[in-house]
Amino acid sequence: GSTIGILGGGQLGRMLATAAAQLGYRCHIYAPPGDNVAFDVAAANTVAAYDDLVALKAFATACDVVTFEFENVPVTPLESITGLVPVYPPLKALEVAQDRAAEKQFVRALGGKTAEFAVAQDESAVPAAIAAVGIPCILKTIRMGYDGKGQSRIMADADITGAWERTGGLPLIAEAMVSFDAEFSVILTRGQNGEIRFWDSSQNLHVGGILAKSTLPSGPLIESQQQTARDMAAAVASALDYVGVFTAEFFASTTGPLFNEIAPRVHNSGHWTIEGAATSQFENHIRAICGLPLGATETIAARVEMENLIGADGDRFEQILADPAAHLHLYGKAEARPGRKIGHVTRLYR
Ligand code: ATP
Ligand code: MG
Ligand code: MG
Repeated sequence: GSTIGILGGGQLGRMLATAAAQLGYRCHIYAPPGDNVAFDVAAANTVAAYDDLVALKAFATACDVVTFEFENVPVTPLESITGLVPVYPPLKALEVAQDRAAEKQFVRALGGKTAEFAVAQDESAVPAAIAAVGIPCILKTIRMGYDGKGQSRIMADADITGAWERTGGLPLIAEAMVSFDAEFSVILTRGQNGEIRFWDSSQNLHVGGILAKSTLPSGPLIESQQQTARDMAAAVASALDYVGVFTAEFFASTTGPLFNEIAPRVHNSGHWTIEGAATSQFENHIRAICGLPLGATETIAARVEMENLIGADGDRFEQILADPAAHLHLYGKAEARPGRKIGHVTRLYR
C-alpha cells in the first residue's frame, strides 16, 4: 500500500490517520516535540522541527503524498519538498490562510464580503487601525492565532491602552465587531479533477472564542445563506487550485453571509460527519489527496449535535457512554489543560 505523510500531530491528524487506515493506507506523521496524539495511530513518526530540511526531505521521500492537519506549518521549508512528493492542498492555500489580512483580501478580490479590517504592523499604528474600523472591534494577530488566542476585544476607548501587548505584541488587524445572528462554516472537498462536494453547514456555537457545539439542521437563517456561502467557498478553493477538504467560516448577518476565515484543512465543525454523513470529512480528504473518487456527503440523520469536550470533562464519560445516541471520541491527550480540546461527542437522532 501507499504511505500518506501528515504534517502536524494533533487530533485532526489522528482522525485523518484513522480514516486512511480504513482505506488501507499507512500514515507517517511529522511533528515537532509535544503532545502528538496522532503518533499512537500512525505507522511511522518523525519528531523534528518543521524547518529541519534534512528530516523533512527524508520524510517526503518516505511518503507517496504529503498533507497537513495544522495550518501554521511554515511554508518556506515545505517548498523544498514539493519536487520530491505531491503536496495537497497546495502551499498557496497555506500561505493565504496563515495571514488574516491576506485571506480577507483574497476573498474580497473574488467578490466575498468580510468585516471591515485595518492592519497595524507595530504598536504605534494600533490607534489608527482601531479608528479606521470603529469601536467595538477585535484585535487579532495576523499570524498564528487559533481558538481565539492572540485576540483582544476593544469595547471602549480605555481598552486601547496596553492592547498591543494584550494581543501578543505582534502585527495585528483591527476587525469591526460583527453583530451576527449565527455562525456557520462551509466544509467542502475538492478532488484532483476539480470536482467539489459540500457537507451541510451546521450552526456553530463558540464560547470564549472556542467552538463549543455544532448542530444540524442549522435553521432557516443559515439555510437561506448557505448557497451564497458555498459559492464563495468554492470560488476560493478553485482559485487556490485546492485539493482536499477546505473550510470557510461565516457569520450569518442580516445582510448575508460575512466571511470570517479559511481553514485549509479538515475542521472541528465537521467532526459530526464521522457518524452523521455518508462519508466523513476525514475520509474525503484522504480520497481527494490520493486521487480516489469522492464519497457522498449527505447528512444521514434527522438531527445531529457535536459537542466539544474541553478541559477536564472526564467525569461525564460514563453518562455519555450510556447514551445510545452518543458517539464518544477521546483524543488521548496526556494533559487536560483548561480550554484544551480533549475529545468530542456526536449525538445522532433519526
Ligand atoms: P479558530 O480556532 O476557528 O481558527 P481563531 O482564533 O482563528 O479561531 P476567529 O475564528 O477569528 O479566531 O474568532 C473566533 C470566534 O470569535 C469566532 O468564531 C466568533 O465567535 C468570534 N469573532 C471573531 N471575529 C469576530 C467579529 N469580527 N465579530 C464578532 N465576533 C467575532
Ligand atoms: Mg482561525
Ligand atoms: Mg475561526
